Amino acid sequence: MWNQNCEAMPREKLELLQYLRLKQTLETIYQLVPYYRQRFGEIGAEPGDIRSLKDLARLPFTIKNDLRDNYPYGLFTNGLSEVVRIHSSSGTTGIPTVVGYTRDDLEVWAELMARALTAAGAFRNSVIHVAYGYGLFTGGLGVHYGAEKIGATVVPVSGGQTKRQVRMIRDLRCTLLACTPSYALNIAETMEEMQIEPSGLKLESGLFGAEPWSDNMRHVIEEKLQISAFDIYGLSEVMGPGVAYECPSRDGLHLGEDHFIAEIVDPSSGEILPEGATGELVITTITKGALPVVRYRTGDITSVTRKPCSCGRTHMRLAKISGRTDDMLIIRGVNVFPSQVESILLEIGETEPHYQLIVDRVGTLDTLEIQVELTEQMFSDKVKGLEDLEKTIREEIVSVLGISASVKLVEPKSIPRSEGKAQRILDRRNAR
Ligand SMILES: [Zn+2]
Repeated sequence: MWNQNCEAMPREKLELLQYLRLKQTLETIYQLVPYYRQRFGEIGAEPGDIRSLKDLARLPFTIKNDLRDNYPYGLFTNGLSEVVRIHSSSGTTGIPTVVGYTRDDLEVWAELMARALTAAGAFRNSVIHVAYGYGLFTGGLGVHYGAEKIGATVVPVSGGQTKRQVRMIRDLRCTLLACTPSYALNIAETMEEMQIEPSGLKLESGLFGAEPWSDNMRHVIEEKLQISAFDIYGLSEVMGPGVAYECPSRDGLHLGEDHFIAEIVDPSSGEILPEGATGELVITTITKGALPVVRYRTGDITSVTRKPCSCGRTHMRLAKISGRTDDMLIIRGVNVFPSQVESILLEIGETEPHYQLIVDRVGTLDTLEIQVELTEQMFSDKVKGLEDLEKTIREEIVSVLGISASVKLVEPKSIPRSEGKAQRILDRRNAR
C-alpha cells in the first residue's frame, strides 16, 4: 500500500473526514461560484443545511452540459489565479469541457495515482511505459506524475507508432504498461507481427483504463502479454485517472474516498439506489481547489460495495464499469452495452478480440450487426465451420442479452486498430 493511513483508514473516521471536507467544499463554492449559489438558491438550500453525508442527496446534480454552459472558466472557484494546469476533453462533438488544477490539486492527483500504481505492483525500481496520450487528455500526464512520485522510472512514450512502442518496451526493460485496454491489444498484436515473445520481456503488469472493458478481455490481454492486468478509473471532470483503482484482489476498484464521495443513482429518475444495485455513478469532489464538482453525473454504469476487501484497504469498491450511459444501445427496447457483447464473444473464444457493433434502422426496426474478426487459422480453413460459429455467437447473444443480432465474421485485421479509445459502435440510425 502506498499510503496505509489513508487507504486503510477505519470507515467511521473516513466518513467523518468526508463530512468535514464536504462542508468545506460546499461553503467554498457557495461563496465563490455564482452558478452553485444560484442552483442551491433555486431549491432553497444553503451549505448549512447539509448536516450529514446523507443530506448531500438534497443538492442538485451537475452534468457535463453545466460545464459546457459555463465554458471555459465559469465554474472555477478563483478564476485562474491559483490554477497551474488546464486539461480538456477533445470537444469533437461540440464545446469541449475545460478543467483546471491548483498546485494542491496536482499533488492529490499524483498521490492517488501513486496509490493506483502501487496497487498494480509498481515500486521505485519499476520502469513505467506510459502509452496514454499526453496533452489535453488527462491519461498521459496523470500516470506520469504518479509514477514519478513513487520514484519509478517513467518512459513517456504517449500514443501511436506502435512498433516503436514495442521496441522501447523491450529495450528499456519496461515492467508496467499503462494505456487503454484496446491499445494494449494493438501492442500485443504488433509484438506478434514483429515476432517478439512476451516471455522474453520484463513486463509484469498493466494498468488499463479510459474505456470500459470486460473481465474476459482482461484474460485475453493477460495471456497475450503474459502480465497481470489492473483496471483504473477516472474522468477529467472529476480529476483524471486514479479516482478508483484495482488492488491485488481485483474484485472491484477502490474509490479514493478521502477525496471523493460516490452515489449510485437510477440513470433515468435520478433516485438514489441502495448499496449493491447497478446504476449511474455520481461523484462529489471534497478536496479539489480549482474546480470542485457537486454530484457530478459521470454517465458510467456500476455498483458499489463497502464490504471489507481482502487487501485491507477500507475504501468502498466500484464494480468494473460495464458501460457508459451514452454508449448504451437501445435495440428494440433492450439495453445493451458493447462490453456485454465483448464478454460473450471472448467467452466463445474462437474469434479475435476485435469487434465492432453496427446499429441501423430498417423501417422502424432497429438492427444490430456484430462484426468480429476471424483468427488466421479459422480464415485459412475456408468456410468450414464458419456457419456454425456464426450460429453459436447468434444464439449466445439471444440467450444472454435477449436480442437478436446478425453476426458477420470478417477477415483478420480488417477492423481499425485503436491507438487510444476504441470505437466499438457505428450507429447509422441518425445518419439517414
Ligand atoms: Zn482491495
